[in-house]
Amino acid sequence: MDEDRRSFLKKAGGAAMGLSCGLPLFSVGCSELREGTARGESSNQLAMVIDVQKCLNDDLQRACIEACHEAHNVPAISDPKEEVKWIWSEDEYRHVFPDQAHAHTPTALAHEPILVLCNHCANPPCVRVCPTQATWKRKEDGIVMMDMHRCIGCRYCMAACPYGARSFNWRDPRETDENGAYRYFGEAGPPSDYPTRTRGVVEKCTFCAERLRDGGIPACVEAANARPDGQGALTFGSLADPDSDVSRLLREHHTICRRVNLGTGPNVYYLL
Ligand code: SF4
Ligand code: SF4
Ligand code: SF4
Repeated sequence: MDEDRRSFLKKAGGAAMGLSCGLPLFSVGCSELREGTARGESSNQLAMVIDVQKCLNDDLQRACIEACHEAHNVPAISDPKEEVKWIWSEDEYRHVFPDQAHAHTPTALAHEPILVLCNHCANPPCVRVCPTQATWKRKEDGIVMMDMHRCIGCRYCMAACPYGARSFNWRDPRETDENGAYRYFGEAGPPSDYPTRTRGVVEKCTFCAERLRDGGIPACVEAANARPDGQGALTFGSLADPDSDVSRLLREHHTICRRVNLGTGPNVYYLL
């Protein structure tokens, strides 16, 4: 590690301690975040609607996760302490919606895994705490982006995200085998040409910004729609377009978001 980086991290240590204790950000910042929900929304905010009932299917969830991981070279690391997650199944309703669960939540829902990912919040606390602007919210569509080259791995953003939507790379993904051949997390090569990351940076879902740029749709949405049982399970589009499928679903159905009381303004909606 070079000296500048080392001394920055040292100076920043005190602030990081504060964040990990949770006091400065959430005790002081929640009212500010709540006030700012409308202010932080992009005028062309992209959003996703997850139909929970249609997604109560392990195979469907697995297909969505695998599609994302394959498209973005997300490694399969079984150790939960080192796992890298862009989209994953959270095992209990009360873990996903702690402010919505109650003693009479239907059994069919209460103990079924639910797909979760970065919410591309209107007021993302992860962005507020990043000292290098390695993570930022795009004005044109509200996607919360990551620049791995600017990331110094301080993990403030991980402490700030109340959804656990960010992962730190603990391992060096690149190695060579005994024959000197390049290996990526033990495999012959990464499955796609999406840029691979290095040890010491944070990563997360980007709403497939690279696919959107090329006129595509998110890989997880495409994977769901490719299955007969997955039609409409995941819907993606612009909230600014009243005719988009997400706008229509939100207009016609009651949906909930994760921990709205925090004022982060999630843009992933759940249709129960
Ligand atoms: S879900 Fe977490 S990582 Fe994603 S924008 Fe919101 S605070 Fe940031
Ligand atoms: S880990 Fe990277 S993205 Fe997160 S706050 Fe630090 S520099 Fe920013
Ligand atoms: S939107 Fe793209 S990056 Fe985000 S979880 Fe789905 S496939 Fe992964």
